[in-house]
Amino acid sequence: MYASNLYAPTLREVPAEAEIPSHQLMLRAGFIRKAAGGVYTYLPLAWRTLRKIEQIIREEMDAAGGQEIAMPIMQPSELWKESGRWEVFGDEMFKVNDRHGREFCLGPTHEEIITDLVRNEIRSYKQLPVLLYQIQNKYRDEIRPRFGLMRGREFIMKDLYSFDKDESGLDISYQKMYDAYTNIFNRCGLVFRPVEADGGAIGGSNTHEFTALAQTGESEIAVCTKCDYAANNEKAELALIEAPAETELALEKVATPDTKTIEAVIEYLNLPIEKSIKAVAFEDEHDRLICAFVRGDHEVNEVKLQNAVEAVSLRMADENVITAAGGVAGFMSPIGLDRKKAVVVVDQSVMAMKNACCGANEADKHYINANPQRDFGEAIVKDIRLIAAGDPCPHCGAPVEITRGIEIGQVFKLGTKYSNAMHAGFLDENGREKPFVMGCYGIGVSRTMSAAIEQLHDENGIIWPKAIAPYEVAIVPINAKDEAQMELAETIYQALKNAHVDVLLDDRKERAGVKFKDADLIGYPVRITIGPKAINEDNIETKVRKTGEIFNFTKENYLVKVQ
Ligand code: ATP
Ligand code: MG
Ligand code: MG
Ligand code: MG
Repeated sequence: MYASNLYAPTLREVPAEAEIPSHQLMLRAGFIRKAAGGVYTYLPLAWRTLRKIEQIIREEMDAAGGQEIAMPIMQPSELWKESGRWEVFGDEMFKVNDRHGREFCLGPTHEEIITDLVRNEIRSYKQLPVLLYQIQNKYRDEIRPRFGLMRGREFIMKDLYSFDKDESGLDISYQKMYDAYTNIFNRCGLVFRPVEADGGAIGGSNTHEFTALAQTGESEIAVCTKCDYAANNEKAELALIEAPAETELALEKVATPDTKTIEAVIEYLNLPIEKSIKAVAFEDEHDRLICAFVRGDHEVNEVKLQNAVEAVSLRMADENVITAAGGVAGFMSPIGLDRKKAVVVVDQSVMAMKNACCGANEADKHYINANPQRDFGEAIVKDIRLIAAGDPCPHCGAPVEITRGIEIGQVFKLGTKYSNAMHAGFLDENGREKPFVMGCYGIGVSRTMSAAIEQLHDENGIIWPKAIAPYEVAIVPINAKDEAQMELAETIYQALKNAHVDVLLDDRKERAGVKFKDADLIGYPVRITIGPKAINEDNIETKVRKTGEIFNFTKENYLVKVQ
């Protein structure tokens, strides 16, 4: 590519609307332009990087047994009504009507479409497992689209769905995806941690978020300083969920199946940590868990259970949070309210902390290393505080650090949530009808590009990891009007191209300073300078963007090296 042909309009000023480095730099370096809030055009440089990220993803998905498909972005409401998510998904869903008034949505995710696909095709356990994926635009009407590609309303996602005949099959598919994600983010050159995330059972093995470490990230994570324990603290965006206007809930009403939402329950109980509350469960006078309200990632579920013991032993993935609630009911003294009792469950990291630490409201003291049941008996527990810096790691006891990160991917054991709701099953070895045991696995492709920039940049611009750089090498002749320089530049350019290096020749008749600035801003990993020294002394200066190291090569070095 010749820079004189490249459509990469760079800006000298930092655009006012951009708050974080990746957003600022992608605008300044000519990667993206805004069409509407959270909706962007990807210019050639961004598109090249995105295609490289996608290619890495494809290779790893295929290696793990995935098959690529393309599902429709427009999805009929009927399927979402079948799964029960048409109403609960809420305002984040873009809905459209066709000319006959039929309702559709623009796919925020594809569980419904794929469950419908597979239920019509797969009949026997012999055809399982099936792993299907796509890389495609997703649509979510985020409350606060921001930070450029980081939180878009239209964004690129890779989503894979696994269908297995049983839980142990799902465990294998899950582990394959977990490993594939580890490979993908390593290959992209990111610093990341897989963290136990919300929605999981006690122990948190049912969902992990892959989090790129970055101070500008929206997720707060607790990371052990010694072992590999890492867990997501409550995410800031959940705090944005507004409590509904209706707050007059009598407890009797709360505990009935037609009860409203967890927000209403939280408001009714006047709980102080509404941001973090994942579930509220109620027990009857015999300590039986009779009702629980759960906040999932996108939805509010309300589930009735017969008793806590049963809840604890439930292993179905869609009831994981209930399991967690049940678990808490099993060990923690609940809030005494008339005859009924409430148990409040906060996020996964706190669940993991259950034996080590718990806060009680008595005189606002916090108790470290307390066992709630043993130490508090029937005391009123109103608050469980979030894990904090310096707290003991729930796995190994070493101090925990609180840091920030960007959720770039998530792997999730769905279990039979969708296959049950949508009657999607197969015949097992004994000819019995069984629901598919499913998993879903997402990667934010466009967000991954942002995350890479958040992690690697300096005051001069982006520093691309080689694997996802739009071009790996930029050749910069200092004076494009100098024939000898241009000729040498062209020779090296062709040699590198022949060696399949992604190379750009900055043939623009700009001052050298301008071209150097642009090369740093765009962030090519390697810059080759062709100036008088290269011509007169056969000394070709080669600079590594990341470290600033300079290597000197001869023309022969280049031509031989790349042959
Ligand atoms: P978040 O918590 O940031 O809202 P999510 O948990 O809702 O993300 P998932 O449903 O898990 O997202 O989607 C899979 C992946 O898609 C996420 O891990 C993230 O990398 C990416 N993603 C989700 N929402 C957006 C968005 N609005 N813009 C860009 N990427 C996104
Ligand atoms: Mg979200
Ligand atoms: Mg999330
Ligand atoms: Mg997620």
